[in-house]
Amino acid sequence: MVFFVATKNEGKKKELLRILAPLGIEVISEKDLEKPLGDVIEDGKTFEENALIKARYAAAQTNLPSVADDSGLCVDAIGGQPGIYTARYAGEPTDNAKNNAKLLSVLKDVPMEKRTARFVSAVACVFPDGREFTVRGECEGKIAFELKGDKGFGYDPLFISELGCFGEISDEQKDSISHRGRALLKLKEKLTQEYIKG
Ligand code: IMP
Repeated sequence: MVFFVATKNEGKKKELLRILAPLGIEVISEKDLEKPLGDVIEDGKTFEENALIKARYAAAQTNLPSVADDSGLCVDAIGGQPGIYTARYAGEPTDNAKNNAKLLSVLKDVPMEKRTARFVSAVACVFPDGREFTVRGECEGKIAFELKGDKGFGYDPLFISELGCFGEISDEQKDSISHRGRALLKLKEKLTQEYIKG
């Protein structure tokens, strides 16, 4: 069985491949297609809506079961922002350094005990026959007062998880507790239980 993964991020594709391969699922992405899919407007109001928009579009274009994820960071002290706007928090195009600098500046007077936050990942799976579902993974942590480490990407150098700052821990440690790791495990469980008869 072949699944299409609607992401340009090779890291996300590899994560999916690792998780779905034991189910006998092969994963292809846009770069394996003869012509590019094109962009779709992500105008949903939730992570789940945006993930579904991407996965529905991909399933309609490729006629393959398609998986897409939408993720972001929700910080309690600022009412859950940046949320679905995480990638473009400091404007477009996405700039990780500017995003981190803006978050540090907005939170500069917030004490450590109030710097609670979570990473969220919604993963949508859409079949060409119209069946679809979403799963969500979350990872709780706190926002640091300064950048730490050079591992990971995006907001990782600011996110202090139960295992340490995402900018400092290994990929394996991050995968074991990350929002995306958790969402992908739920995806695997749901596919095994309801969709893939072995
Ligand atoms: P997207 O889902 O790829 O559009 O990512 C949304 C935004 O959330 C991007 O700015 C990412 O940098 C950020 N983000 C999502 N997951 C992570 C993560 O695991 N670490 C750091 N930043 C992340």
